[in-house]
Amino acid sequence: MIELMRELYPIPRSLTGDGVRQTLARISQEVPLEITEVPTGTQVFDWTVPREWNVDEAWIADADGNRVVDFAKSSLHLLGYSVPVRERLSLGELRERVFTHENPDWIPYRTSYYTENWGFCLSQRQLDSLADGDYEVCVGTRLEEGHLTYGEALIPGETQDEFLLSTYVCHPALCNDNLSGVVLLAELGRRLAERKLRYSYRLLFSPGTIGPLCWLSRNPDAVGRIRHGLVASCVGDPGGMTYKRSRGGEAEIDRAVEVVLRDSGREHAILDWFPYGGDERQFNSPGFDLPVGALSRSPADTFPGYHSSGDDFDLVAAEWLEDSLETYLAVIDAVERNRTYVNASPYGEPQLGKRGLYRSVGGGSPQEAALLWTLSLADGTLDLIGIAERSALPFAAIREAADRLLEHDLLAPA
Ligand code: ZN
Repeated sequence: MIELMRELYPIPRSLTGDGVRQTLARISQEVPLEITEVPTGTQVFDWTVPREWNVDEAWIADADGNRVVDFAKSSLHLLGYSVPVRERLSLGELRERVFTHENPDWIPYRTSYYTENWGFCLSQRQLDSLADGDYEVCVGTRLEEGHLTYGEALIPGETQDEFLLSTYVCHPALCNDNLSGVVLLAELGRRLAERKLRYSYRLLFSPGTIGPLCWLSRNPDAVGRIRHGLVASCVGDPGGMTYKRSRGGEAEIDRAVEVVLRDSGREHAILDWFPYGGDERQFNSPGFDLPVGALSRSPADTFPGYHSSGDDFDLVAAEWLEDSLETYLAVIDAVERNRTYVNASPYGEPQLGKRGLYRSVGGGSPQEAALLWTLSLADGTLDLIGIAERSALPFAAIREAADRLLEHDLLAPA
């Protein structure tokens, strides 16, 4: 995942343009994607697909012609969606067009998608080092009729019911807030493709906000098949896992994530729904009302370096990506294995000893506790996640107990 991140980092991504296409092409080598191009001007619900934006060059040169700021060195240097400009400015005039970050060493990440503007992003130190005098500014961008590009993969399972995994592909050179979610989903796609699955898994890689809206507007049938969903972002930093519940707050995905995080025994945070944040806002809007939560480590804008060049390879690490991947796989396992059963011998406690289900005389082992809790609560109203919640036993223990009871015909599907 870290290696893939290093490959994707220099590609100049934005809401639209060739950087998104290159990114999706590279992801396709991990998990084959179906690419959709939505033309500029297309109406999607209350939004309109903007013009496509591409950058040929962008730089600031001093009076001697030295390029003191260059997009070729960092795609963060240009205000996203800057309109084309070529002019000479005094340092004072140039300052009006420059964005800086409160940390003097970091280049901020700024965009102006829906208002025409242009500008440059510099570290405060870089700005302070510019001498008085005239500067030549070149914003060699093309803002033209084109397309918005997104990619998706459907990994089929036994049923057509879908588990949606979504991330955004619109941020330039930023590691945690964007690339971590991209590489996590690519790796999940590779892993899921090797598995026998109950649900079908749809991976969506699209530019933020308008990307999911484009997908939602074009896929009403698939939307109707979504049973669970997660939006992946900021999964590479050292913070504990953070889960933001779906709008309803009690969906199976909410309960699955919460039981997995509880079972991890590690510090984590559960947040109730709130109507700002990432693409979960679109999936949970009342018209769609999909059970989609957001699973991250430190949420966006809570970690140092957020939306700046400080969100780099010093912030993220392979071990945190791996830990996030394991968490996602555990959630998928919980949802895959979750079922509602009834006790098939409900009149009195079935005699476990004669079936060899008591491992030792006297009992009291965790396995026995899981058997007894499962028999006691399997009345057709609680699913296995519910039994894990109520018993305070790990989901894995309850799942194993259910498997053993099924082998002995002591449980039956509700
Ligand atoms: Zn962001």
